[in-house]
Amino acid sequence: MENILNTPVTYLKGVGPKKAELLQKEFGIATYGDLLFHFPFRYVDKSRIYKVKEVISDNTYFQLKGKVSGLQTVGEKRAKYITATFTDDTGSIQLLWFRGIQWVKNRFTPGKEYLIFGKPSVYKNHFNFVHPEVEDVDDSEPEMVTGRLEGIYSTTEKLKNSGLGSRGFSRLMKLAIKLCAASFNENLPEYIVNTRKLISHKEAMVNIHFPKNTEMIKKATHRLKFEELFFLQVELLLQKQITTKKSTGHIFETVGQHFNTFYKRYLPFELTGAQKRVVKEIRADMKSGKQMNRLLQGDVGSGKTLVALMSMLIAIDNGYQTAFMAPTEILSRQHYETLKKFLGDMDVEVELLTGSTKIAKRKEIHQKLKDHKLNILVGTHALIEDTVKFSNLGLVVIDEQHRFGVAQRARLWKKNTIPPHVLVMTATPIPRTLAMTVYGNLDVSVIDELPPGRKMVKTVHFFENKRLRVIGFIREQIKAGQQVYVVFPLINESEKLDLKNLMDGIENFSREFPLPEYQISVVHGQMKAEDKEYEMKRFKDGITQIMIATTVIEVGVDVPNASVMVIENAERFGLSQLHQLRGRVGRGAAQSWCILMTGNKLSNEGRKRMEIMVQTSDGFKIAEADLKLRGPGDIQGTQQSGMMDFHIANLAKDGDLIVRTRKLAVEILESDPSLKADENILIRKEMIKRFKGKTIWARIS
Ligand code: ADP
Ligand code: MG
Repeated sequence: MENILNTPVTYLKGVGPKKAELLQKEFGIATYGDLLFHFPFRYVDKSRIYKVKEVISDNTYFQLKGKVSGLQTVGEKRAKYITATFTDDTGSIQLLWFRGIQWVKNRFTPGKEYLIFGKPSVYKNHFNFVHPEVEDVDDSEPEMVTGRLEGIYSTTEKLKNSGLGSRGFSRLMKLAIKLCAASFNENLPEYIVNTRKLISHKEAMVNIHFPKNTEMIKKATHRLKFEELFFLQVELLLQKQITTKKSTGHIFETVGQHFNTFYKRYLPFELTGAQKRVVKEIRADMKSGKQMNRLLQGDVGSGKTLVALMSMLIAIDNGYQTAFMAPTEILSRQHYETLKKFLGDMDVEVELLTGSTKIAKRKEIHQKLKDHKLNILVGTHALIEDTVKFSNLGLVVIDEQHRFGVAQRARLWKKNTIPPHVLVMTATPIPRTLAMTVYGNLDVSVIDELPPGRKMVKTVHFFENKRLRVIGFIREQIKAGQQVYVVFPLINESEKLDLKNLMDGIENFSREFPLPEYQISVVHGQMKAEDKEYEMKRFKDGITQIMIATTVIEVGVDVPNASVMVIENAERFGLSQLHQLRGRVGRGAAQSWCILMTGNKLSNEGRKRMEIMVQTSDGFKIAEADLKLRGPGDIQGTQQSGMMDFHIANLAKDGDLIVRTRKLAVEILESDPSLKADENILIRKEMIKRFKGKTIWARIS
């Protein structure tokens, strides 16, 4: 029997083709089911009617009862809008509409009372309501659910204009709930519902829209978050289970001559305990017979490159080729050089392939790959072009993976009949709970220890009025033979203001640090690649003392002699970015400094960020703080994951629940890996419904 939840919304009274199209476009709502999963984001007491004089804040919703008078059209043509005065026995307030003017003109009968509802705005020190929702007083229908609490739904301007403001949604929900209530079947087994003290799926669905009381809002919210996170965890674990089970991986039996020679004779320092542990984890994966999909997390400077190299040597010892991908040309070159340096005169062939590799060289590389004369190929996206043919690709290392899309990674699979092992490295520490969701289908290794002898970077925060002191400090450092980074935000490369900011900054610094005593390198995103490389090189070689840059230097450049990082307009950077930038210094022997410059006025959140940076250098703590301050949408790597489209769960707030649902999912799948047991039938059914067509389920169900 076709489930009523799959009925197109057009079958709902009051939803014509136009509204249906908008619902689809704005929120992807096509069916009754989709609609009912559009949950309120907060609730107001709708039995409460406020007085005009009580409207004293622009961050909550008000319902007012009164008369509308003095309709007046202001302005002309495109700039036209309409105003009216809303009056009750305590005063009046202005109403405003910028669209639907004809509709407004015909909407109100003089002398009649209306209910208006909305969030006020402030204009010239007065409150007004822009596009309020309007209802006739006498047409309020008898309530289906007898609650006083009304859900507030997120909506858009377009939907509002066609009658689907929050109240409009509420009305549709009422109809849809009435039709669907009988079809909200339980989707969790009794043993889970009971032990976790959850309310039923049906109760939750009804109460989330039309709560009986505040207690039920809590219970419904909890139940629906639980479902959402639990089923996601089951899905992620199944993906992991199936990729590892299905895809046989190359078996790297031996740790052979290359690895051992390197370890004994070429390794310039002791590995840290964390590096040793992680190399072991990777090694265990690569000889397990299953394909490795491992995420290697480690703070900037924790020595991931070396771990990557040692993993590649194991692959080479077993007769395989390896690829090392980085997101930019500069980084690829740097990795290439680092690897060459580490390997010294060992007989390991390394080549670099990027967009700017000349055709002759390209041909040579292709030939060497084919003849199996090449062991490590380093490069950018150019590596996964179809023309690049490995004879035997065994391991791919991907640095800073958030810049590689999932689709690009998938292309690698086509390079071999047996897919290569994949090691993804990221220097953006990801909070544990987030890692469980965004990368829940990968295994995770963490390097949680920095090489010994690192001096902590000292971080200070200065307001603009201390600039002279900062300039003086930079002079001292340069005199002592150190180099300095100055970074400007160029969040949006096409943003004129940002560019002007950078240009002014360059001018200031050139004045304070004049030629010929001082040399300055400038690098920003609008420069040609060669020019960037040239300037970077001058700084790396110590010819210039100051590098003024935008965030192009964010990832990975290694100049040990640079000991000062000045971050201009630091308030405009996110925490993770600030942390990444700070990681550029503190690589050499000298005490290093990170100087955060901000304007004198700072928002609360901006101030918090500066405080956190000054207090801690632990990347994981910073990532947690970032998640709490900004929410998950902004954390690097999460946007493109496709896992962020939650209806109700919140990755920043529901950490505990993520941990608990993951644990439960692991337990269940351990004893019943394909969800065949009677007691898990409901889970299986729900998984097929939720993830059908998207993933694995198409194959195993
Ligand atoms: P990441 O890529 O994790 O940011 P790198 O691999 O660039 O870090 O390493 C940072 C620096 O630390 C490099 O100069 C590297 O040679 C050095 N390094 C790596 N491992 C060790 C170690 N065990 N002891 C001392 N120095 C190390
Ligand atoms: Mg690195």
